[in-house]
Amino acid sequence: MISGPSGVGKSTVGELVLERADRLVRSVSLTTRAPRRGEVDGREYRFIERAGFEELSARGKLLEWAVVHGNLYGTDEEWVRQRLAEDLCVLLEIDVQGGGRVKRRCPDAVLVFLLPPAWDELERRLRRRETDSKEEIARRLDGARSELAAAPGYDYLVVNDDLERCVGEVLAIVASERLKTGRAVLGGPGAD
Ligand code: 5GP
Repeated sequence: MISGPSGVGKSTVGELVLERADRLVRSVSLTTRAPRRGEVDGREYRFIERAGFEELSARGKLLEWAVVHGNLYGTDEEWVRQRLAEDLCVLLEIDVQGGGRVKRRCPDAVLVFLLPPAWDELERRLRRRETDSKEEIARRLDGARSELAAAPGYDYLVVNDDLERCVGEVLAIVASERLKTGRAVLGGPGAD
């Protein structure tokens, strides 16, 4: 799982890691948020009405879900379990509430927190994105403060000051986690 404040570069880092790591696939989350310009249903997210989301949650279909910036986001449990059964690893890009929930349900999940090099830089990146309104940006900056408070509970902290180095570090985490004795002996994802 990769978490980190809005604007820290989770999707960019995630995309490059997915391109370069073997047998790693990204979970496409469900969300009630409206698509941003350029986003495609089923690619960035599965966009869903609130009632549909609540029904899935009530039926226990979500591995975790959370309210982020006023919208619902969640992970399709069956999809994740199927990929794991196929010996694939799954990358989740989720917020810190979701991160904690997955860790409690799947203790061998690995939590990586992406840190911005500095607060000013985070603010600059959010403003540069231009896909969100002023209010949305202010809300995301507020959210970023509370996200950062969760960082110490994560397994790994990676600073995204240099994209290549950051991606390299996340790939190193994937590689070393796959080499862990417990996973290899159990024949779980990444055992060979
Ligand atoms: P955005 O709307 O900017 O794409 O995402 C807002 C936040 O929601 C980000 O912190 C992102 O990581 C988080 N998020 C995306 N998908 C999920 C999910 O399935 N579960 C949880 N808990 N958070 C998610």
